[in-house]
Amino acid sequence: MDKRNFVVVGASQAGCWISKTLRQEGFQGKITLIGEERYYPYERPPLSKNVLLGDADIESTYFFKPESYKDDDIDVLLNTRVHKISCSDKNIVLQDGSLVTWDRLALATGSRVRQLEVEGSALDGIYYLRNLDDTRAIKESAKPDSTVVIVGGGWIGLECAATLKTLGCNPIVIESSERLCARAVAPEISVWMSDFHAGNGIDVRLNTSVKGFKGDGSVTSVSLSDNSQIECSFVVVGIGVLPNAELAEEAGLLVDNGIIVDDLCVTSDKNIFAAGDVTNQPNNFLKKRVRLESWDNAMKQGISAGLSMVGKGKSYSEIPWFWSQQFDANIQIIGIPESWDETVVRGNKTANEFTEFYLRDNHIVGAVAVNNSREIKVTRRLMQSGKKIESVDLTDLNKKIQTLV
Ligand code: NAP
Repeated sequence: MDKRNFVVVGASQAGCWISKTLRQEGFQGKITLIGEERYYPYERPPLSKNVLLGDADIESTYFFKPESYKDDDIDVLLNTRVHKISCSDKNIVLQDGSLVTWDRLALATGSRVRQLEVEGSALDGIYYLRNLDDTRAIKESAKPDSTVVIVGGGWIGLECAATLKTLGCNPIVIESSERLCARAVAPEISVWMSDFHAGNGIDVRLNTSVKGFKGDGSVTSVSLSDNSQIECSFVVVGIGVLPNAELAEEAGLLVDNGIIVDDLCVTSDKNIFAAGDVTNQPNNFLKKRVRLESWDNAMKQGISAGLSMVGKGKSYSEIPWFWSQQFDANIQIIGIPESWDETVVRGNKTANEFTEFYLRDNHIVGAVAVNNSREIKVTRRLMQSGKKIESVDLTDLNKKIQTLV
């Protein structure tokens, strides 16, 4: 009989993969998964797309059916907030004061939205989109012909704009920097995004920020930095997220833009592991530390942390990959290149079907594909192989990209 208790804090994507992996890998002790929300672990990508559109219900977003946790003998504590972690006593204190002891602990506490602090930001009708309840509230406000101001031209802002436009609303996107998704994509892709959204009837305003909101109880107008004002029915803010690393920091773990972990997802305490948005991990491919906010990373790092907890850890060396759906464009991004000496476009950018490659010394260091997902799979293999590539081979549409591997 294994009498150990492995506790996972955060019933998130990373958290559920950690607990499932522990069981799949034969751990026979107790597993406790603790989550603050009232829902079993669910997918976030549909929140700004199918769930907001009304095409998907809550159950369809669950990673695993609620009864499967029972089948796997995983004790799930929902609506439960962890107040404090003690590394020396190997226990956690819950918000209601009760104590849970652990032999090994995993932190998958994710991230929370960055708040917009301007005049009137506490008015009703100003939403953030991070969880299922946020999506439900936005959906209720999304009446046809209503004007919605979207603050932030990042992933949440653009996906929301596309979905709300599809629902018949008139979204206006306010982005403070000079281009869309500036942190995630190259300038050429930001230009393509602006054109694509404008072509779909979205009003995108760059180099503009929000000065304040006005309304009597509920927001009715937004004042902008260019001194203009927009009358609106409601507002959605998507200006980034912050890692939920405070519990770890207060427990004395190393934290620097997220919880510091090694390539096996081990924190500065060898009995505590971490995975997902909250971690800052060395990436073997990028040759630097990164804190990734992505679906793909949350799952793979969760599995990696689970393996490490049962002594089967393997060095984590995934190439970062992200995807988004906006109107009829499936956008996929691989790698996070900081510099490149050549940009090569394969396909037709105006037809919204292309892959843009970034090369350094004839090596692909990243790519963005629009409605071209198959090429991203091959690109991953090309990047992993470290093979030298000539740009003419990429632009030649008569040459299948598979032949380059
Ligand atoms: P994000 O992608 O970081 O974008 C936030 C955007 O808002 C940035 O362009 C940012 O510009 C801008 N911004 C910041 N302050 C602003 C202000 N005061 N006024 C106007 N614009 C402002 O974050 P997000 O869209 O909020 O998404 C939240 C998280 O969910 C992220 O981790 C994101 O990766 C994730 N997510 C991912 C997907 C996907 O992968 N498909 C979809 C949805 C959400 P600066 O960069 O200049 O600050």
